[in-house]
Amino acid sequence: MQSATIAIIGGGAAGFFAALSAKKHFPNKKVIIFEKSSKVLSKVKISGGGRCNVTNACFDNRKLAAFYPRGENNLRKAFEIFNAQSTVDWFESRNVPLKTFPDNCIFPQSNDSQSIIDCLLKESLALGVEIKFNQSITSIEVEQDTFKLFTREDNFSVERVIVTTGGQPKRSGLEWLEKLGHEIIDPVPSLFTFNMPANPIRDLMGNVVEKATVKVEGTKLIGKGPLLVTHWGMSGPAILQLSAWGARALFEKNYQFAVLVNWLDDEKEVDLHKRLDQIIREHGEKMIGNLNPFPMTSRLWNFLLEKTAIHPEMRWKDLGNKIRNKLVNTLLSDRYEVSGKTTFKEEFVTAGGISLHDVNFKTMESKLIPGMFFAGELLDIDGITGGFNFQAAWTTGFIAGKSVGLSN
Ligand SMILES: Cc1cc2nc3c(=O)[nH]c(=O)nc-3n(C[C@H](O)[C@H](O)[C@H](O)COP(=O)(O)OP(=O)(O)OC[C@H]3O[C@@H](n4cnc5c(N)ncnc54)[C@H](O)[C@@H]3O)c2cc1C
Repeated sequence: MQSATIAIIGGGAAGFFAALSAKKHFPNKKVIIFEKSSKVLSKVKISGGGRCNVTNACFDNRKLAAFYPRGENNLRKAFEIFNAQSTVDWFESRNVPLKTFPDNCIFPQSNDSQSIIDCLLKESLALGVEIKFNQSITSIEVEQDTFKLFTREDNFSVERVIVTTGGQPKRSGLEWLEKLGHEIIDPVPSLFTFNMPANPIRDLMGNVVEKATVKVEGTKLIGKGPLLVTHWGMSGPAILQLSAWGARALFEKNYQFAVLVNWLDDEKEVDLHKRLDQIIREHGEKMIGNLNPFPMTSRLWNFLLEKTAIHPEMRWKDLGNKIRNKLVNTLLSDRYEVSGKTTFKEEFVTAGGISLHDVNFKTMESKLIPGMFFAGELLDIDGITGGFNFQAAWTTGFIAGKSVGLSN
């Protein structure tokens, strides 16, 4: 039997931040990361297409919290302790210059996630954080003043434990924590793209509409922003937002639903009719297929015309009322059947996990088991794309580490 003081279970973003924060705040304690695989920080490595979108340039805590479909209220408080500015300062003060892109995503200036990994590893070496590889913790026993961590072959007695095992795709991955009394919110995927098998829109793969609004038919779910047509269906920020806000509702529909696309941002019918009046007045003699008045490629425009049964050689002035109404409907409320999803390769996360009711967000300590803390995606917290998921990991990891050495 070996003995240690503070155990961190899981060597990902949250685990490293928890370990570094614990060691910084309680330098006399022994901090050990138990990692089940032979590598740490593997998700950081592949994140953001290998560039690691480390946080988001949203420096208002209330606004930042609003990017989380699950966890908003709890994170708002947690950001008072460690927010996006804290992340920027943390990395930049450790010689990792960061760069903010026009969409507010923040990446290392090197454009290489390895810079983040190197920084975290260097810092843990300097502070004396120990890392144990190939140690999968399968259960925890709570004893009077200690926790006993079990792997298949070994067990370790520790004083405190921070669990940072990441998003678990299946409920069974959380059973060992459920056994200790914690409520588990069923895990479901978030951040995925929509499959539209056999839909001819897929022939337009690569087409982007910068400002679109997408609704899930029959619900209040809505996504706004760039929409990308892919080989399988639709992707882009508008769709990913929708997949995050609708993670549970869409799971319950078994990913069989319809979306209504407004190709013209959130333009209203009355305004579009006014626009069409003007086009007809000014360009009545022009052929509809040749004069595309909207911010979309002419391929997409012609696709939508075909869908509305408008011949591209028809002149604008010959657009009768009935067909004009049909065109308005196609532009503002274009219906597509979705059947299935594809995980977004740049970033995907799990919604669900340890219920936030069981955690004190001032310390990240379990309300049921004193001395046990949680951080990262294992919690029922997830954000939309844009660096928010790492921000939640840094914030909760930092707070857990800051509180873990305090006496109960
Ligand atoms: C392809 C991809 C790209 C992404 N890109 C971004 C991005 O650019 N920006 C962003 O904000 N988010 C991104 N994310 C999401 C982000 O990576 C996660 O939200 C974040 O890594 C969560 O950190 P974590 O430490 O909680 O969990 P993880 O990073 O999953 O780490 C958990 C660690 O615990 C270990 N572990 C699990 N169980 C045990 C056990 N029983 N015992 C011991 N160890 C265990 C695992 O092996 C792992 O090392 C991306 C995700 C994916 C999949």
